[in-house]
Amino acid sequence: MRYLIWLFFAICLFATGDASYPGGVAIVPLGEFGKSAPIAHLGGARVRVERLDGEWTAIVGVAIDTKEGSTQTIVYETADGKRMEAKFAVGKKSYPTQKLKVDDRFVELNASTLERAQSEQQEMRSALAVFGDRHSQLRMRLPLVAPISGYFGSRRVFNGKPKRPHSGMDLAAPKGTTIAAPQDGSVALAKNLYFCGNSVLIDHGEGLFTLFCHMDTIAVSKGSEVLAGDELGSVGSTGRVTAAHLHWSVGLNGAWIDPLLLLDANETRAIQTVRNR
Ligand SMILES: [Zn+2]
Repeated sequence: MRYLIWLFFAICLFATGDASYPGGVAIVPLGEFGKSAPIAHLGGARVRVERLDGEWTAIVGVAIDTKEGSTQTIVYETADGKRMEAKFAVGKKSYPTQKLKVDDRFVELNASTLERAQSEQQEMRSALAVFGDRHSQLRMRLPLVAPISGYFGSRRVFNGKPKRPHSGMDLAAPKGTTIAAPQDGSVALAKNLYFCGNSVLIDHGEGLFTLFCHMDTIAVSKGSEVLAGDELGSVGSTGRVTAAHLHWSVGLNGAWIDPLLLLDANETRAIQTVRNR
């Protein structure tokens, strides 16, 4: 069964074209050796390894700021202690530009706010560096159904100033809409963050995380276990926002990747065709 799920996942990725690009997922064969999975790293971050089609395969999140056309090297160690390398090429991906107008305090940070934002960024990085034992599928359920109002990867210009690319997908649900866990996991963070507002970060295991921002209410606390479909809280407009919506990010081996890659065709259709109410 698991094999079929993985095969399906691989087909999904390949069906949408090669996803080995900034913000995508690279599927890198490592070899057929041994019964236990090799331990693999990319740039110091542990990466997921699955047996796919009889072969150990790294499923690697490619960070959005990875250079297009570059070659990346996965370093891995087999169960019998052999150190090996596998390389993959990073393709091209163009993302649109999105211009937004927000309160100036989210663009020009004063010293104390900057300090707060940087320490929260560090806290997020540390949380994302955990490689938990839990094994969950990469396939995600939608946290809610609403029109997409912001795609992953868009180059964002806030009040005329270029900022980092969009690290997730925005779903334009009204304030109060229930946000459901897209997959089983445990709550790694549940707190207010400067940019993200009221936020929940879920650890799904093996370096896979989901992050929910700008929430109105938070219904879970750090350390609690959630099952797919459990309520995490509700949609709001806290943090750097223009209107109430859910910002949903997916992290894999410390890289934010496009959540659309982990949804099946029905779910993708559901949010691409639904109309604004
Ligand atoms: Zn967003």
